[in-house]
Amino acid sequence: MLDQIRIILVGTTHTGNIGSVARAMKTMGLSQLYLVAPKELPDGQAYALSAGASDILANAKVFDTLQQAITDCPLVVGSSARSRTLSWPMLEPRECAVKAVQEAVTHPVALVFGRESSGLTNDELQLCNYHVCIPANPEYSSLNLAMAVQIITYEVRMAYLQAQTATEQADDVAYPSNEQMLNFYQHLEQTLNDTGFIIKQHPGVVMTKLKRLFTRARPEEAEYNILRGILTSVQRFGQKAGDKE
Ligand code: SAH
Repeated sequence: MLDQIRIILVGTTHTGNIGSVARAMKTMGLSQLYLVAPKELPDGQAYALSAGASDILANAKVFDTLQQAITDCPLVVGSSARSRTLSWPMLEPRECAVKAVQEAVTHPVALVFGRESSGLTNDELQLCNYHVCIPANPEYSSLNLAMAVQIITYEVRMAYLQAQTATEQADDVAYPSNEQMLNFYQHLEQTLNDTGFIIKQHPGVVMTKLKRLFTRARPEEAEYNILRGILTSVQRFGQKAGDKE
């Protein structure tokens, strides 16, 4: 799925930055690098700075215009250090990453980065559905190109890992139904009445507090069964004690 998220560098001047971007991408599990009109193609300097990410440089696709690099992308986000005169839908880096990961399930997504000297032009920014800005020091907000890519791709990785964990949890864990929880609360109240922990005439707020505790803990089905088993064992124990008397 991360292969559907492409990093596009527009008009990069320093090949070293292209190499550092490849490294930043690979550490976060991204592989699709698109170069739009780079001043020079990746050279020895780029390969040196890419460290072990030379495969990403070797596979980078090169285009003349941004338009050509995004023709198949329904979601394009342009990254910019400053909010321009032109106002455009903005995303925080974290929101941008969540959106990119969600959409990458069904189609390619482009994250676009501008020139070291002047960023993206207004025409290029207008090709984007959203703009993303890293909320840096307002008095010194322009990051090095590869560092901006690192921050955005880190957020993409976090969103991706979170989505994976959520899917795994949704697959593996069964939770008791609302009705089962109501049965559990009745069982608990009955047991606490029997043991004398709750005095029937003055029940107070104990049950409300316990319900809040179990709602917060959100027991899984297996844990719920243990809790019901404990209550049954307590009740049996009480009955046995009663029989002996
Ligand atoms: N001097 C340029 C900044 C160039 S930095 C300008 O003022 O626009 C190169 C690229 O890194 C930018 O085009 C942008 O894509 C990215 N970048 C740098 N700092 C950023 C920030 N704070 N938020 C988002 N992107 C940033």
